Amino acid sequence: TDFLSKLVFERGRLVKRERVVKAVNKVSFSMDKGEVFSIVGESGCGKSTVARTVIKLIEPKGGRIVYDGRDITGLSREEMLPLRKKMQMIFQDPYASLNPRQRVVDILTEPMIFHRAASSVEEAREKAMGLLSRVGIRPEQASRYPHQFSGGQRQRIGIARALAVEPEFIVADEPVSALDVSIQAQILNLMMDLKEELSLSYMFIAHDLSVVKHISDNLAVMYLGKIAEKGSKDHIFGNPLHPYTLALFSAIPRISGTSMRQGKNLEGEIPGAIDLPSGCFFHGRCPKAMDICSKTAPDEIEVEPGHMVSCHLYG
Ligand code: SF4
Ligand code: MG
Repeated sequence: TDFLSKLVFERGRLVKRERVVKAVNKVSFSMDKGEVFSIVGESGCGKSTVARTVIKLIEPKGGRIVYDGRDITGLSREEMLPLRKKMQMIFQDPYASLNPRQRVVDILTEPMIFHRAASSVEEAREKAMGLLSRVGIRPEQASRYPHQFSGGQRQRIGIARALAVEPEFIVADEPVSALDVSIQAQILNLMMDLKEELSLSYMFIAHDLSVVKHISDNLAVMYLGKIAEKGSKDHIFGNPLHPYTLALFSAIPRISGTSMRQGKNLEGEIPGAIDLPSGCFFHGRCPKAMDICSKTAPDEIEVEPGHMVSCHLYG
């Protein structure tokens, strides 16, 4: 599959899908109900594209998306409507995806009414108040506007909005990376508590392995539109094999501080998606590159049950 698209929000509404080159190729994975599946990689690796495609905010040019046993790839907007309610998204920048002219209570009740998650406006308001207090926003703040809240509070509102229609599957695209380190753990803990309470499944997008370490059941590490390595949490954290995964680990800051930038120990520039390298996409930056690496793309090898690596070192 490859697709070229970017979502543009204006006042909290999706206004257009801009064409950009963020190709994704032969990305394949599955996740179970109740699972936290994380996709990790540097910016531009295509992880957000994959996340948006899974819930059909982006239409893939090929490939297949199966949800709950049903092939949803070709479904129209109308056919997707009942599923929209089940699949919700939490965005990296809640401010961009919250309508600044809408009061917080309306931000929550509007989708409830649209998706018939409440039978009356009164019921919707009541549910909204309950949800807001559950995510840590005081009910008396419900008539405020998004700009009157801090970044962390806005993300709490973003979470409440996603939950307003009682979804079962949440795609969270870097939900904490715009937040202060001290707030990140609070939001992650809230998300994990809600997952248990509401039997949710999460797809979690991150550029930082340390963020997803404690929450993931399974992970995929992406590089330039492909999956470099995937497996269980134990595989990826206990036995990381792909040189790119290892590079990401070496870039995890050991002292907690403000610098959470990933990839600082990686050599070289990330090649642009337009002039993709031949062979293994990582060969220009890989400390273990061999002759074959610049010529032939590695196949995905199952090195142990459920642990897949795309690298000639394991061929
Ligand atoms: Fe490095 Fe070669 Fe493996 Fe690519 S295939 S990650 S260049 S060793
Ligand atoms: Mg992204």
